[in-house]
Amino acid sequence: MRRVIVATSNAHKAQELEELLNLSDFKLETMSEAGIKSDPVEDATTFLGNAQIKARAAYQVCKEKGLEACILADDSGICVDVLNGEPGVYSARYAGEGAGQPAINAKLFKNLEGVPFEKRTSHFSCALVFIDEEGNETSVEGKVFGRVGFEPVGDGGFGYDPIFFPEEYNFEKSLGEISAEEKNKISHRSRAAAALRERLV
Ligand code: IMP
Repeated sequence: MRRVIVATSNAHKAQELEELLNLSDFKLETMSEAGIKSDPVEDATTFLGNAQIKARAAYQVCKEKGLEACILADDSGICVDVLNGEPGVYSARYAGEGAGQPAINAKLFKNLEGVPFEKRTSHFSCALVFIDEEGNETSVEGKVFGRVGFEPVGDGGFGYDPIFFPEEYNFEKSLGEISAEEKNKISHRSRAAAALRERLV
């Protein structure tokens, strides 16, 4: 069994990535389970850049501690074409540090005022960076395309899910209206995980 430390403090994320990756010879654990701390400034302009920052910082901490493990880091968010790719890497803090999703949605809807549904094209993106025990990096990205709506619909999922209408459902259902299982078939995160799985097995 090879150890994989997920460069996140979010146990839910590690669990979700473990399920999506479904790699029998890798055991995923969070940084706190592995007893390490790493919280670098994520100041890259791309999801891939931020995932690299997190992965490389955690790898460095492991090296310093003499811990033999692989590292997995992710970064994700939503990009709206008509807003030049915003919120992008600022997805989590689009309405300022600590502001919740209702404030984020309000800002996004305001910035999209007057833009018709057909022109609200957008995509979620998820970058994954894997570093093996020797320091070799593998980077992948997964995307799901759709449109931003005019109000939240459905109470499933999290974050931007209720305001994102994927093309796979003909822009008629939001990600907040479908089950987690259905979302996993089309999501940016599951597509990135599938791409990484292909590269690792
Ligand atoms: P992070 O990768 O955890 O930093 O997530 C960035 C932000 O992007 C999150 O706070 C969410 O608002 C948004 N986001 C990322 N993936 C999803 C998703 O699958 N559904 C809805 N929002 C997402």
